[in-house]
Amino acid sequence: MKSYRLILPILAVALITYFFLNQPQQQNEPVTYDFDLIIANANLFDGSGNAPVKADIGIKDEMVLAIGDLKQNTGKESIEAEGLSVSPGFIDLHSHADRKVLEIPQVPNMLQQGITTMLGGNCGGSPSNIGEFLAQADKVKLGPNLAVLIGHNTVRKEVMGTENRLASEDEIAAMEALVGQSMKDGAYGLSTGLKYVPGTYSNTEEVVSLAKISAQHNGIYTSHMREEGLGLLEAVKETIEIGQQAVIPVHISHHKAVGLPMWGKSKDSIAMIEAARNAGQDVTLDQYPYTASSTSFAIIFPSWSLAGGNDALVERLSDPETREKIKQAIVHNIKTDRGGGDPARIQVANYPPQPEYNGKTFKDILVERGLELTIDNTAELAIEIQSKGGGQAIYHAMEESDVRYIMQYEYTSIATDGANAQIGKGSPHPRNYGTYPRVLGKYTRDENVLELSDAIRKMTSLPAARMGLTNRGLIKQGYYADLVYLILQL
Ligand SMILES: [Zn+2]
Repeated sequence: MKSYRLILPILAVALITYFFLNQPQQQNEPVTYDFDLIIANANLFDGSGNAPVKADIGIKDEMVLAIGDLKQNTGKESIEAEGLSVSPGFIDLHSHADRKVLEIPQVPNMLQQGITTMLGGNCGGSPSNIGEFLAQADKVKLGPNLAVLIGHNTVRKEVMGTENRLASEDEIAAMEALVGQSMKDGAYGLSTGLKYVPGTYSNTEEVVSLAKISAQHNGIYTSHMREEGLGLLEAVKETIEIGQQAVIPVHISHHKAVGLPMWGKSKDSIAMIEAARNAGQDVTLDQYPYTASSTSFAIIFPSWSLAGGNDALVERLSDPETREKIKQAIVHNIKTDRGGGDPARIQVANYPPQPEYNGKTFKDILVERGLELTIDNTAELAIEIQSKGGGQAIYHAMEESDVRYIMQYEYTSIATDGANAQIGKGSPHPRNYGTYPRVLGKYTRDENVLELSDAIRKMTSLPAARMGLTNRGLIKQGYYADLVYLILQL
């Protein structure tokens, strides 16, 4: 009996879809159907990259059942969309909203920028028990849909803590088992954050072993690569090699070229990605549309100094010789990497011990203290902040031309790299609120970096394809009615 219950509704949907597909409005006898919702006279971008068409959209049971002239039909509700554009809801491949989604399930900062589906667990950090997490997420009233990756750092921490060494065979086997279980429990793939502790202590072979497990379960491999500054091109090479060796689709997260010496190098990194694609490999990427990144203060510290957690770092800093080594490494990173060579380029996003610093740059703080604006003083301030527990920083260290070049690449999806921001808390990176509006406004309408239909494709069908979603990311009969109204002043 159970099988009937499953089959009948599917048949009903299939018949109705067929009916509308095959009964065009020029037929003399008008068809009427009672939709849950009719969106009338929309300027419809279907997400494929095609030019918009004027159409009505008929929705029933969360699905798009008809597109066209639906004047003869009725809807329990209808929305007059004359003057509005409608596109598929945006699919954010690079979300960190899983971190607080059980506390802030509506994720308003994401919903309000048009996001209807988020892929979380990025940069190597994810819930450790994917099955349990998804079960809990099912019980809260989520805003956007949510899928998660299993994070390499999460798994490595569980097996090895934050030790600075390679994994033994047994430890790799233990990590493989955790990744395998996570994939069975519903993870979409494996993410790495090879710049962060403890993933930074792993070698390529370890990642390949784990990516193979993801591949066995039809998962993908996403990576916040080992380096995005001086070592960027080597990191792209490693990422592509991991994809080849594990035979898995590869997705490069928040692609960028960080630090003054690397400005302009996105041409080389994209050329490497294009070459891999031309050789038949499945490689894609995402990007947020800003010249500033945001992550911990710890990222400008040498990774060896961070092993064992913050107490261990403070311990190391108490030894003058070690402290000097750490400081010189930070000076190097400020000059060549996220520091951008200037204290004005490092900004405090969230520093709980002194919230009055939120929003201020290191330059502001040094000026307040009457100190010279040297790289040395900048490094000292970083050490002070991290010693007191650290926090989140914004680093203004990218070049606009790289942002544009990466954005225009055919296989670049737009993504936030954001989390559940709360208005009034800290001074977070604007990507948490404005990623999609900024691409549509600044980069599409004002500056013509992207053509509008293509910008929408990069927010919808392209990321849907990356996730392997076959019923989201387009406005099409039989697809979920995840829709966004766009008020476009063209
Ligand atoms: Zn990241």
